[in-house]
Amino acid sequence: MSDIPKTHPRYASLMLRERLVEGFNEGLVVPQGLIAHGRGEMFYYLLGERTTKDARVAAKAAAALLLEAKRSVISVNGNVAALCPKAVVELAEVSGARIEVGLFHRSDQRVSKIAAALERHGAKDVLGFLPDAKIPGLDSMRGLCSTEGIFQADVVLVPLEDGDRAEALARMGKRTIAVDLNPLSRTSKAATVTIVDEVTKALPEISRHVEDFRDDPDARKLALSKYDRDENLAQVMASMMRNLDRKG
Ligand code: ATP
Repeated sequence: MSDIPKTHPRYASLMLRERLVEGFNEGLVVPQGLIAHGRGEMFYYLLGERTTKDARVAAKAAAALLLEAKRSVISVNGNVAALCPKAVVELAEVSGARIEVGLFHRSDQRVSKIAAALERHGAKDVLGFLPDAKIPGLDSMRGLCSTEGIFQADVVLVPLEDGDRAEALARMGKRTIAVDLNPLSRTSKAATVTIVDEVTKALPEISRHVEDFRDDPDARKLALSKYDRDENLAQVMASMMRNLDRKG
């Protein structure tokens, strides 16, 4: 990794870039993933690079959904595996979710590299290498998934998902949790719960709430009743507009 001094004002952001470049060099991340990260960075900048109150409300609802699920799955792509493999594994452990590698630009080699990266952080039984089912409405490669995982899941966490897949999962009747810095994306608008926050921040935040809510069904109910996706996304947009006014 490049030698970035901790005192650099953009240290955190630059470190995320370093992780992605390393993931790219290892074959986890595709070039398109680097571009998608740039889009995310832009929205994060507008958010003031912080976790908003609205993101916390959404993370609580996400934790409640995961705890209420019968079969939950965390779908992992190259960027997520490069940025926060440990946070994925920790969330799977605390919530009981399975982990499945789901790629837009799929190759067996990439799936096995991503699964290996997750396993180095303690993941067990990662799904996705031998897909045996299809998400209806998507072209062949992008629709591939595993019966044991995404196909039969009732709740799917889709961090950094593309809109087509998020919409197709919603059409299958699944409850989905998106983590997406773009409040305008199709993914953000298609998910049951959308957390507009940087993924390395959002996943540990969900894990914390899962632990808090585990034995507290009332808290779960409250978290879900307090969350309204469209209202939450509108609040996020309003924060961005206020920040733009201040910056300008
Ligand atoms: P959609 O297809 O949902 O309308 P899109 O075309 O922007 O949106 P992609 O190109 O697949 O979707 O990009 C994935 C999304 O992930 C982008 O909206 C981007 O803002 C978001 N994103 C990128 N990096 C991060 C990150 N580190 N944390 C959270 N979100 C991110």
